[in-house]
Amino acid sequence: MARKFFVGGNFKIRKQEGLHDPTPERHAEKNHNTHRNGTSASVKSIVENLNNATLDPSVEVVISPPALYLILTRELLKGEIGVAAQNVFDKPNGAFTGEISVSQLIDSKIDWTILGHSERRTILGESDTTVASKTAYAIANGLSVMWCCGESLEEREADKTVEVVTKQLDALKAEISDWSKIVIAYEPIWAIGTGKVATTQQAQDVHAAIRNWLKTAVSDKAADETRILYGGSVNEKNCGELSKQPDIDGFLVGGASLKPAFVDIINCQQ
Ligand code: PEP
Repeated sequence: MARKFFVGGNFKIRKQEGLHDPTPERHAEKNHNTHRNGTSASVKSIVENLNNATLDPSVEVVISPPALYLILTRELLKGEIGVAAQNVFDKPNGAFTGEISVSQLIDSKIDWTILGHSERRTILGESDTTVASKTAYAIANGLSVMWCCGESLEEREADKTVEVVTKQLDALKAEISDWSKIVIAYEPIWAIGTGKVATTQQAQDVHAAIRNWLKTAVSDKAADETRILYGGSVNEKNCGELSKQPDIDGFLVGGASLKPAFVDIINCQQ
């Protein structure tokens, strides 16, 4: 079965760069916000850019703004582009100060979430088990998930990449049986935000190992149908070669998703 190419944009809590501001008002608004990260003005500007762009209709696109701007983004963004949270809690609504629940996302028409991003694993201390539990809860309650995995530089240099990714996948498998709402994002930590992209061969090798794991640990169907994205310093220059690899079904893009060139990444197969 042909897997639909998928491009996700993870804004983190950063501002956009280099977008054309069509009106003097917007220009003033942007200048006002220039030194602040992830403002409503910057999110509006990115959304406007995407709304006006001609995007390859054969590509599924989902963007992930900071939580405070999810509703604004959903209201302004054209319907064919999905919106994702960057994190979600794994308990129903209740006394959980500071968290956002799955049902609140669904109520706000947000259909996706990123989970297990390496920044949450390393900075916020989320374990393989926590990420798996959140993923299971999100899927069981109606969200689709961009589930992230990947190794540190130390682990790669110790030749432990596949071992680390397999351990992350095993923890996920212990919690879920429905793989139809999961997109796997392989994001080597050493490539995220560093400008140091994995070579096409490095990325393809790990993607093939993940697909092989799906085949042996889950099913032929999951191996055939699950999209495996590459993330880590993807830009408009390197996306073309990466996209030609047989097991790369799209990208999770950080920094470049804030720039007009995100459109070139979405359209990289044309
Ligand atoms: C990310 O944050 O998921 C990511 C891949 O970032 P960047 O593209 O900036 O490396």
